[in-house]
Amino acid sequence: MLERLGVQPADLEMSDAIGRFARAELAPNAAEVDRDEIPATRYVPQLAELGVMGMNLPERWGGIGATPVALILALAEIARACASTSSMVGAHYLATDSILIGGDDELRARYLPDAAAGTRLGAFALTEPRAGSNPADMATRATREGDGYRLRGVKHFISNANAADFIVIYAKTDPSAGTRGISAFVVDRRSAGVEVAPAEKLMGIRGAPAHEVALDCFVPAANRLGAEGSGFRTAMKVLDNSRLDVAATSLGIAEAALEAATGWARQRHVGGEPLARKQGLQWMVADMRTRLEAAWLLTLQAAVRRGAGQPFTDHASMAKLYASEMVGFVTDAALQIHGGYGFTREMPLERLVRDARILRIYEGSSEIQRLVIARAAFA
Ligand SMILES: Cc1cc2nc3c(=O)[nH]c(=O)nc-3n(C[C@H](O)[C@H](O)[C@H](O)COP(=O)(O)OP(=O)(O)OC[C@H]3O[C@@H](n4cnc5c(N)ncnc54)[C@H](O)[C@@H]3O)c2cc1C
Repeated sequence: MLERLGVQPADLEMSDAIGRFARAELAPNAAEVDRDEIPATRYVPQLAELGVMGMNLPERWGGIGATPVALILALAEIARACASTSSMVGAHYLATDSILIGGDDELRARYLPDAAAGTRLGAFALTEPRAGSNPADMATRATREGDGYRLRGVKHFISNANAADFIVIYAKTDPSAGTRGISAFVVDRRSAGVEVAPAEKLMGIRGAPAHEVALDCFVPAANRLGAEGSGFRTAMKVLDNSRLDVAATSLGIAEAALEAATGWARQRHVGGEPLARKQGLQWMVADMRTRLEAAWLLTLQAAVRRGAGQPFTDHASMAKLYASEMVGFVTDAALQIHGGYGFTREMPLERLVRDARILRIYEGSSEIQRLVIARAAFA
């Protein structure tokens, strides 16, 4: 069955190893990471050792040449143990995919092998205080200065920004050209004029801090990704990939919630019998399983298309939309099955509910995914 879905034994081998690490190292500390807002970047060396930090990159650039299916399975394993960690890794992929897709070989060679080795962390900066769902609204400008550009503006909600070694910044080189006036640049985090604010106080994924970044910095022309005006196209391709990563994170969190719910329903007795015998709860579990399985199929289908070089933009959007809404339902139902205990911080349920909530918002909200899916239907 799994093979017919495009899952090869090598994909499973890789995710098994990552799953073992996630269960042994990430899961036992996930509550502490959340409670004390400990950045999940502390796991970068171990993740790099397992190949995770470069899993999205080909071997030529230091990656491990994993298939898109293997990437999904691995991220789901990580998210099942600690969603902050999968979000941190996802933000790193947003940055390295930008360089892989938009950059030339010189830039790829300068950044990607170190990024894959975990010695340089990336961040991706598209969003601004007044430009989220519609990047054309962005106000950050890149104006020619000497043999490079001056970047001026403010980016908002930038994951990994403080810990990052490099940030891929999207800025307008031609403000009159809408999305065709957007260009992308790799900026070293410690350049003069890159100011990272303290982390936002987040509802969930509290080990994956997001920051405002104020820019008034010089960047050499050699650090531009591709031609002037090609930044939006690059960002959209990067987001196609990352929407699968978000779907995978949704799957992992939902797996954790379903496992907790069935475990609780087996051992919790009400009225002399386990909750698992109550038909009302059985039906909840049946719906949780069915939606989780459907989300797996959509996500694997999109990953297989990506691996085969077929168009997958709307498939990635369907996977992200369905999986992120599925995990909202599954985590809420799992909390309900735990009754009052589920509402306490002693249990992981409330954390899973909080961590899942961002998945319907970032990397294109559910409403934006619907726009993408409908646009393809009417193309
Ligand atoms: C924790 C966190 C981490 C993040 N990490 C990053 C990062 O690393 N890099 C980065 O660049 N960004 C990041 N973001 C930003 C994130 O991608 C944006 O918040 C998201 O794209 C939504 O943009 P917005 O917040 O400006 O909402 P808005 O664009 O203001 O949207 C508000 C609401 O209106 C809806 N809406 C907007 N347009 C339409 C429409 N045409 N039709 C129907 N409904 C619409 C939206 O769906 C949403 O519900 C992060 C955000 C958070 C909270």
